[in-house]
Amino acid sequence: MSSSLIVLGATGSIGLQALEVASRLGLEVAGLAARRGSDELLELARTWSRAEVVAVAPTTDEREQMSAALGGRVAFGGEAMEALAAHPGSTIINGVVGAAGLRASVAALDAGNRLALANKESLVAGGPVVLDARRRGGGVLLPVDSEHSALFQCLVGESAQAVNRLILTASGGPFRGYARDRLEAVTPQQALAHPTWNMGKRITVDSATLFNKGLEVIEAHYLFGIPYDQIDVVVHPQSIVHSLVEFVDGSLKAHVGEPDMRVPIQYAVTYPERLAGGLEPFDLTRHSLTFEVPDRGSFRALDLAYRAGRVGRSAPAVLNAADEVAVHAFLEGRLGFLGIAEVVERTLDRVPVVDLHTVDDVVAVDQEARGVAHSLLGGAC
Ligand code: MG
Repeated sequence: MSSSLIVLGATGSIGLQALEVASRLGLEVAGLAARRGSDELLELARTWSRAEVVAVAPTTDEREQMSAALGGRVAFGGEAMEALAAHPGSTIINGVVGAAGLRASVAALDAGNRLALANKESLVAGGPVVLDARRRGGGVLLPVDSEHSALFQCLVGESAQAVNRLILTASGGPFRGYARDRLEAVTPQQALAHPTWNMGKRITVDSATLFNKGLEVIEAHYLFGIPYDQIDVVVHPQSIVHSLVEFVDGSLKAHVGEPDMRVPIQYAVTYPERLAGGLEPFDLTRHSLTFEVPDRGSFRALDLAYRAGRVGRSAPAVLNAADEVAVHAFLEGRLGFLGIAEVVERTLDRVPVVDLHTVDDVVAVDQEARGVAHSLLGGAC
């Protein structure tokens, strides 16, 4: 187990839960980073008084306030966050939302650190770049997302040749069972009412479209090196089975428990050990578990993600950027629910596929895809 933790995205949901885990396990926190220089970050800096602190994009007022309160302990800007991620011998919790998280992931792996990854963009948009950094720096990449942590835990002690299929579970979102004509009329308010997990707006809409599951299929491909033909999705509305692995001998292993992100966060920090988690014992007898085939006709985002994943190279980055633009338009009432997949598909059709060698390559593709998606929204979409 690592000696000190650095928490990126410290004021977000993953960051705060990581600090809760650190506090319970008595771990040292050597660094804290957040986008803004809010009172919340300042408060965390006071609690974790030995941590270096970074505010990536503070306002002028926040900058002055933080410098006055923290003196030499605080630094500002994206490069300061990357320097924090490269702090030798650390475990980096990357709970940053968006593309800034990708640079931090690469910096952490290049420095040979353990990276507990909760930032989607890192693997979805920058998969080849992140894996190159791991090879170069010899860092360790551990998933924090509940599905990928579940798969990782099922795979411990198993060889790649023994795996027949990875099976990711999806809650199905609030529109499970809806046919296309019913989906036509759903509103942002309905999409934001997620049945089991409480998350940010984009990821909640992405769960309603099944897009989030598509992104997770791509992440699983990069994390475990398993071909797309051997990655499946099953709808499991109770969110008690967090994912499964099917082996060549017909055995299935599942990871089961209450949906609680502190479990995968803690495992990423303590792996290969397990430490007491402080949760109530799970009562199996209170749950009935059901599984369904996803409706790929109504929820087209899933197949679009497989398509982009199989094309590989820059296609998943295009998929991710187009979805973000489309979800934003949906939340603003400028695009219907079914239009999200349509914008993504047409963006994928238009943006040429290229190789990704550096973070700048990923950023360029991201910008281009956003431009195309915006122009589609301005037009007939
Ligand atoms: Mg997930």
